[in-house]
Amino acid sequence: MAPVIFDLAGKRVFVAGHRGMVGQALVRRLAKERIDLLTVPRSEVDLRDQAAVFAWFARNRPQVVFLAAATVGGVVANNTRRAEFIYDNLAIAANVIHAAHANGAEKLLFLGSSCIYPKFAAQPLREDAMLTGLLEPTNEPYAIAKIAGIKMAEAYRSQYGADFISVMPTNLYGPGDNYHPEYSHVVAALIGRFHEAKLTRAPEVIVWGTGTPRREFLYVDDMADACVHLMKTYSAPELVNIGTGEDISIADFARVVADVVGYEGRISFDPSRPDGTPRKLLDVTRLAGLGWSATTPLQDGVRRAYRAFVAEMRPETA
Ligand code: GDP
Repeated sequence: MAPVIFDLAGKRVFVAGHRGMVGQALVRRLAKERIDLLTVPRSEVDLRDQAAVFAWFARNRPQVVFLAAATVGGVVANNTRRAEFIYDNLAIAANVIHAAHANGAEKLLFLGSSCIYPKFAAQPLREDAMLTGLLEPTNEPYAIAKIAGIKMAEAYRSQYGADFISVMPTNLYGPGDNYHPEYSHVVAALIGRFHEAKLTRAPEVIVWGTGTPRREFLYVDDMADACVHLMKTYSAPELVNIGTGEDISIADFARVVADVVGYEGRISFDPSRPDGTPRKLLDVTRLAGLGWSATTPLQDGVRRAYRAFVAEMRPETA
């Protein structure tokens, strides 16, 4: 177990992006710490707005920042809203990281994403694979913005001695996910689709792509716990992957969701839909060395995510 080198107790802690799935999980996890939690609604401060961000930081002077705000989406959203994904995420990273430094934040944790790794990097993906090859084209704008954020954190550490760290979570799922049928990630999309199919007794559910890509899925509350752990125990320029170390094919994963939801019809695949990257499994050796590993098994996490989906989106069908 890595020793605690940074104490959160009594600190003003800002969660940027507290309404998103990741931010909500961080807020749930931070409720267990003796801290002064700061959040700000988007209606008050749009994190893409430099003047608004700088003014808010100057007024509130957070000592600790979790940068969980981002414009995110699944493979289709990434590929079609390319300008939004690069502009929003570059602006958010630039504004928040600079404002944190300029206003004396003691520590910042930047959340990247496993799509920053090259499409054909060796699996499992090690932290040092970043910038060793070309990216998956469908999410290149998002990945470039995230790489810029990581490089900013690194540069502020090297030039100013700022204690800014970056973590790379794998594919996340859980309460507060985005369930948009077209723009969501696969877990939320399949939970929604299998639930509707169960209700309407549809004979078939269509899953995008070939079913052969492999993905690693981490329950978002596990990720939040890892972030708090790293905030307390880690300080170095190198990234830290956050994952489970296990992956599953999309076809097998669809069966897990069907079982959890209780859908008994057929599962088919639509290869005209994009597969995205063939495999995305993180090497979690560094994280394990720091004394953290995931605790929520996939079945349990999907069960909890499904319960949250029904409660949030379809309470009348519970
Ligand atoms: P990615 O990890 O960035 O590719 O993000 P996604 O979560 O969008 O997609 C993961 C994998 O799930 C891809 O291979 C998709 O083709 C596949 N997939 C299967 N059905 C769906 C679906 O309904 N929505 C999404 N987003 N992906 C799906």
